[in-house]
Amino acid sequence: MRRISRLLRADLSDLALEIGTAGFAALWDGRGARPEDLIPGRPARAVQAAAAELARQGRAEVDGDGRLVGVHGLTLQPTRHAFVHAGRTHRTWCAFDSVGIPAALGIDAEAHTTCPACDRALRVPIRRGHPEVSSIALWLPSPTSGHLMADFCASADLYCDREHLEQRIPVATRPGEVLGLGAAAELGRTTWADVAGADWLLVQGGRSATDLDAAQ
Ligand SMILES: [Zn+2]
Ligand SMILES: [Zn+2]
Repeated sequence: MRRISRLLRADLSDLALEIGTAGFAALWDGRGARPEDLIPGRPARAVQAAAAELARQGRAEVDGDGRLVGVHGLTLQPTRHAFVHAGRTHRTWCAFDSVGIPAALGIDAEAHTTCPACDRALRVPIRRGHPEVSSIALWLPSPTSGHLMADFCASADLYCDREHLEQRIPVATRPGEVLGLGAAAELGRTTWADVAGADWLLVQGGRSATDLDAAQ
């Protein structure tokens, strides 16, 4: 699992990580912003270059107007994956993101996706970051140094159960692993640890790390 979390963040410059967290906060509010406006303290050209590099690696989406419309798993583009929190729908790049982000933020949410084997709509209730465990299984593709969205998110799907997963994925030969929802949430907490402690969450009806500590 450590390999994956390194994959999702590896080799990123400080500036790229800043774009990731600032972009995530803007997308959480449904705003696509120019990268240079997200990080006003840095030279605009350096920020634009870092955003372009993230896009080249499949770690960010930039639209025709130069606005960041996808980063760190959240996107304004249509996908078949989302989670609903406090009555608002947040679209995600993949099913792992739709469970992992609410898990990391420790919030109540419902992940929405579809099973690639039978097209059934899948809904996963999440309470304070803990998904309701069921037969639903996640295919977690192996790390890659290539294009994150194409190589990882494109197949990081939830299936009704392991049987449906194995109808589509030759698990014995394809690099990756099958995870239950509890393990998927655990991995999400690592992957989005950077945004889980961010101040902006306090005003979004989420629970900060401090709140969680107090509740334990
Ligand atoms: Zn299915
Ligand atoms: Zn993803």
